[in-house]
Amino acid sequence: MKQKKQDIKLINPEKYPSIIKGYGEKPFRAKQLSHWLWKKHVCDFDMMTNLSAGLRNNLKRDYEIGCIKPLLTKKSKDRTIKVAFGLFDKNTIEAVLIPSNNRITACLSSQAGCALGCKFCATAKMGFTRNLYAYEIYGQLVELGTIAEENYNSGINNVVLMGMGEPLLNYDEVQAAIDMMVSEEGMGMSPSRITLSTVGIVDGIKRMADNQAAYNLAVSLHTADNKKRDNLIPANKKNNLTALKNAIKYFYEKTNTRITYEYLLLKGVNDSEEDAEKLAGFCRISPCKVNIIEYNSVKGINYEASTGESLKKFKDILDSKNMIVNIRRSKGADIEAACGQLAKELNKFKKK
Ligand code: SF4
Repeated sequence: MKQKKQDIKLINPEKYPSIIKGYGEKPFRAKQLSHWLWKKHVCDFDMMTNLSAGLRNNLKRDYEIGCIKPLLTKKSKDRTIKVAFGLFDKNTIEAVLIPSNNRITACLSSQAGCALGCKFCATAKMGFTRNLYAYEIYGQLVELGTIAEENYNSGINNVVLMGMGEPLLNYDEVQAAIDMMVSEEGMGMSPSRITLSTVGIVDGIKRMADNQAAYNLAVSLHTADNKKRDNLIPANKKNNLTALKNAIKYFYEKTNTRITYEYLLLKGVNDSEEDAEKLAGFCRISPCKVNIIEYNSVKGINYEASTGESLKKFKDILDSKNMIVNIRRSKGADIEAACGQLAKELNKFKKK
């Protein structure tokens, strides 16, 4: 039986020199190989034109190249672009390009589906399929970079790990992808332009702290009331607000980094004056800013966006406490690219 070849993208690039040495090639070939795989993102050894035919044949014989490929692109009226990517095992994930104020943000997925079942989220309805490999997370960024150049005539300025999945439940691969984003071998990005967004996985936040993460942490808080949070975000039962507070305190002590709280404002659920007071109380743990996010309705999910009046009152309370508060207008709602709407297109692809 023909043995399945090893995926070279699953091998740490630090090991490329020994692979190259094994073929009796000069050490600088390892750098060239890395360049093709991680900078040029090629999916075929034959495209590595500065490698000799002999080396390419050896590599082809022993390895395959894991790739992610854009399958479909949808453009919103507001210029947001959603991209569905196909993976080697026919799974499909989505990522989004969000242009605003001369900046382009790439929102990446970390898992195919999600196991956490947040009540307001379309991805939750799909269930969990698998964790993404580092190259699949990083590959979204490379491919989105090309699409950004084509459509906006500009590269990507910021990265948020806020698409499908909970990044802290795929910590090692997410960290490896970020390492590649910031390395010179990869994209050479500043870690300050990368934000990991979690629903509050306490152990993961502590790991980030222990590893002195130089990138940003955003916590999708959505309510500072433990009971309400248990209902909205089932993962809160294992990561309750007291534990989350302690983890955030620890993170701040270790990294000195300001945390961002994401707060999806839901009509009649978490948008009362009392909710705003509770949020303000929670935010006293460490320096932070709050992003209040407009909700995009999702078919089959019974939540509604807050009224403009509730939003104003909510924000006024936070402002009166001198908090840093931004209102994030939803983008890409017409292409179902906004938060919690990344699921639908996917299923279409899976059935093909
Ligand atoms: S909001 Fe995030 S963590 Fe919650 S179910 Fe959706 S993808 Fe998973």
